[in-house]
Formats: sequence, structure tokens, C-alpha cells
Amino acid sequence: MSMDPLMSAISQINSPENPMDVVRSIADLRDRVGDWKAKGLKVGLVPTMGALHEGHLSLVRRLAQDVDRVIVSIFVNPAQFGPQEDFAAYPRQEALDCLRLQGTPADLVYAPAADVMYPPGFLTSVRVGRITDDLEGAVRPGHFDGVATVVLKLFTQSGCDAAIFGEKDYQQLVMIRHMVRNLDLPVEILGGAIVREADGLAASSRNVYLSAPQRKIAGKLNVILADLRAKALAGAGAGADLGALEQMGTRALIDAGFDRVDYVSFRDAQSLETITTLNAPARLLAVARLGPTRLLDNLAI
Ligand code: AMP
Repeated sequence: MSMDPLMSAISQINSPENPMDVVRSIADLRDRVGDWKAKGLKVGLVPTMGALHEGHLSLVRRLAQDVDRVIVSIFVNPAQFGPQEDFAAYPRQEALDCLRLQGTPADLVYAPAADVMYPPGFLTSVRVGRITDDLEGAVRPGHFDGVATVVLKLFTQSGCDAAIFGEKDYQQLVMIRHMVRNLDLPVEILGGAIVREADGLAASSRNVYLSAPQRKIAGKLNVILADLRAKALAGAGAGADLGALEQMGTRALIDAGFDRVDYVSFRDAQSLETITTLNAPARLLAVARLGPTRLLDNLAI
């Protein structure tokens, strides 16, 4: 009789067939990293919330090109979820995640419990200004403070030399770059390209929330953004009206079947400030909703 895939995955954790190393305490993590550093090895970190997909695995592979050892952290960070958000429902599948990582250059999984990260009496929060005020920050108050705080803790806990973040969460990547510069952290930050499914939908742990009809609509987000980018570039010489294009994009998303559009916005690629003309590297960012599920996407211009 064949075993349930999840049970089979669980039974293989820490078995000889699954050499994926998992540590759960800061002391064990530091021991491991200390041994590597004593040998002069460069250590990289891939922060994740688990439910790993090809997007996460691509970050592991990309980072391994620049460092000698790769740590993947798996921690569903309560501090970055709002009270009405999906913290409880967020997919948790550590055993399967470890199996997925076996085919990658990952050397170690760091999966702390919530009270390791936030022991009783925890009071500190890290806040990066301005960049976190709008876009995701406007819709999810406190979200970026939760991300900045946990990422800074992951850096200091691991002592990593480098870390990689996906361009999928572009505002987050820009925020982390600012935090590292502003706090003089000795961590090199890399950005990883967005990995997409066959129809162009950005891979996301939250895509499992979509019903079959919603999944069809979801594939139109990147198509509509690519069309807006083409229109912006075509009109660039004559001074494209980016505000009108943002409105056109919002309408196109609603017409395509999305229930709500949180934003469609052309921004400066580095500062994330709003722009009215395309005369420097820019980014088109959007979030559209299907039911309660928010789908993020963005494109370089
Ligand atoms: P998460 O587990 O959703 O917190 O994501 C962990 C990291 O993976 C973040 O740096 C994300 O930006 C990145 N990531 C998530 N989805 C993708 C994707 N489709 N392509 C590239 N990176 C991604």
C-alpha cells in the first residue's frame, strides 16, 4: 500500500535518505555558522516563511553562486500579519519543505519556534521610514515593521555575510536594502528574479488559496501589467500619462474578473517614489484581489 505523501515526507525527515540538517535554537545555529566561518567560508541566508515553491528554490540556487554555505530559514512570522490576516491559515509543511530543499545547494534549515524569536517580554520593533508608508504599507499597517524586525534578528542570529530576497516582494527588497545601509549591517543583499508559473502568474505560497476559476483570472495580472508597461514605453518619448495608464490598468483588472485592485503604480525603481515620467529605471507594482487573496506582482521598466 502506498503511503500518504505527507506521512512519507515526515518519515523521511532526518532519515539517511534526507540529510537536510534542521536547527531550532540560536545557539545551534551559531555553532554551525561558527564552524563554517572558522574555515573561512562565506555564509548566506534565504529568509522564508516555508511552503516552499520554485521561487524560493531559485533564491537558494542563486545565492549559492555567491556564497559557500546556504542557510534557509523557515519561520511564519506572526509580527508581519495583521489581526484580520491569514496567520493561522498560512500553509505550514516543514517536512515537505525539507524534501524540496534536498535537490538544492541548501546546507542548513533554521526553523525556530515563535518563542525563540519572540521570548516573553519582547519589546523591540524596527521601522524603516517613508518607503514603508504606502503601497503594501498603506494596506497592511505594521507589516513592514514586522518584516524588518524579524529580518534584522535573522541577520544577527545567523551572522550571515549575505542574504537574498525575491523581487516578487519588491517593496520589501527595497526596504531591506535601506535598513542594511542605514544600520551599517555587514550583510550583502541580493535580489532574485520573479519565478512564474506557465501562464506568467508569480509563484506564491498563497496561490493555493485560489479556486480553479480564480486561478484562471489570476493569470491575467501579469499580462495586463506587461501591456501597461508596453504602453508606457511606447508613449515615453511623448511623455506618457502614467496616471491615466494606472487608471486604465485598474479598469482592465476589474474587467478581467478581479474583485478589487489595491494599487497599480509606476514608481522609481530605487526610491519607490511616485513618478510622472519615465526617465530613470522604474518599476510597475500592482496588487489585485480575488476574494480575500491578494496577488502581488511587479515589472521592471
Ligand atoms: P515568503 O516565504 O513568501 O516570505 O518569501 C520568502 C522569499 O521568497 C522572499 O524574499 C520572497 O520575495 C521570495 N519569493 C516569493 N515568491 C517568489 C517568486 N515567485 N519568485 C522569486 N522570489 C520569490
